[in-house]
Amino acid sequence: MMKIRTNDVVEIISGDEKGKQGKVLRTIQETHRIVVEGVNRVFRHMRKSAQNPKGQRIQKEAPLDVSNVALFCPTCKQGVRVGHKTTPDGQKVRICRKCGNEFEKVVVRGKRRGA
Ligand SMILES: [Zn+2]
Repeated sequence: MMKIRTNDVVEIISGDEKGKQGKVLRTIQETHRIVVEGVNRVFRHMRKSAQNPKGQRIQKEAPLDVSNVALFCPTCKQGVRVGHKTTPDGQKVRICRKCGNEFEKVVVRGKRRGA
């Protein structure tokens, strides 16, 4: 299982876009790749088709390897290493190895954080 999940906020830790942060739009378990909002944007050329008679160039985020990102800790204000912990009620949560922040408590599914 990957440590990064959809809707996580991650920081890019290597490559041209190092230091950038974004929300995870999609995870691809099989290839350990993720798509991060606003990161690794590439132009895709759409071929002419019935729906799209003129052809088009659209900008789209390309997947990047999960090893190039780190989960962003709001307390440390940077990408951090992730550990695991079992809460007293038996729930497994991801924690920041630096400050102990529990990610599952700050991440409320379906709720928009920041902007
Ligand atoms: Zn932290």
